[in-house]
Amino acid sequence: MGNNHVTVLEIDLNSIEFNLNYFKSKLHKDTKILVVVKAFGYGSSAVEVAKFLESKVAYFAVAYLDEGIALRNAGIKTPILVLHPQEANIEQIIKYNLEPNIYSIKLLKAFIKKTTNLGLQKYPIHIKFNTGLNRLGFNQKDISELLSIINNQSALKVTSVFSHIAASEDLNERKFTLQQIYKFNVVSNEFIKHLNNIPFKHMLNTSGIINYAEEAQFDMVRLGIGLFGFGNNNIETSKLKNVLTLKSVISQINVINEGESVGYNRAFTAKSTIKTATIPIGHADGISRQFGNGLGFVFINNKKAPIVGNVCMDMVMVDVTNINCNEGDDVIIYKNQEHLEGLAKAIDTISYELLTAISQRVKRIVK
Ligand SMILES: *Cc1c(COP(=O)(O)O)cnc(C)c1O
Repeated sequence: MGNNHVTVLEIDLNSIEFNLNYFKSKLHKDTKILVVVKAFGYGSSAVEVAKFLESKVAYFAVAYLDEGIALRNAGIKTPILVLHPQEANIEQIIKYNLEPNIYSIKLLKAFIKKTTNLGLQKYPIHIKFNTGLNRLGFNQKDISELLSIINNQSALKVTSVFSHIAASEDLNERKFTLQQIYKFNVVSNEFIKHLNNIPFKHMLNTSGIINYAEEAQFDMVRLGIGLFGFGNNNIETSKLKNVLTLKSVISQINVINEGESVGYNRAFTAKSTIKTATIPIGHADGISRQFGNGLGFVFINNKKAPIVGNVCMDMVMVDVTNINCNEGDDVIIYKNQEHLEGLAKAIDTISYELLTAISQRVKRIVK
């Protein structure tokens, strides 16, 4: 699969290592690192990234069961936290030795039932507290019930307790974030005090490491987008190396005369004679239709070529009137962090969404 390798996403492992070391340099020596490789490793390749980092980090996290199974099937032995498991996943979670985030009493009870039936002892689980994101997790009022259930069984063991910050990248929300951190300290301490073992704690994502390493480092951090070169602000991003480059080639060059239209719905009409290049990448590959009509641009021979008309499912046409180029020449769709961040802003979204939208039809190549 994969456009016969013409349209490719290059993954630079050296840059990943550089970025990992950059975040490590912000942390205490003994702080564990969990790398989040959900959504195919932020659109890269979860398997390739995990293989590369297996010996360098303590944990991996995925959002869903299937993502964890893919890592195990690729031979990854590192502990894997499943951030958003469902009751229906429990059997498979155990089969693949994955470690669930337990976020509700219902899920906890179902997990105990299954592990007890299987005669398991001390199966690792992770307890999530909601401290303000209001997405998943237990609240302070749940602690006594949680403890009475957990302390009356031996099939499960609480390996860690954690929480997630709602606006770690936004320093205008610093007061709220410090409240979240305070809350996490209170609930996690209250919980752990009555527990039979001492679990480790974690709270920080990429921007959390950048902005709250002093206040909330705890025992582990959960690094996601930062590994791929994005620090959620220009200064931090400029200190990181570019990991992902989305590339293709020119399939065909067309001369469009004045009055002729280009593409579906005839969204573009030439006001004078122009030259377009057709590129084999479209909205089915993750190039949003919102990039049509000049909002998006690619690089050809180091020059900007804006998208002409609507983005098609499998192709885009770009304006190369002022670019010296030929059929078969390289096209860079996402050049680096700055290019991708600019494109994301142009359509009112974030780097996370553009990266994870790059569809599985695009061949991933490790450099
Ligand atoms: C996605 C996710 C992360 C990683 O966030 P980044 O901003 O990409 O570093 C960490 N923790 C949880 C719970 C997540 O869902």
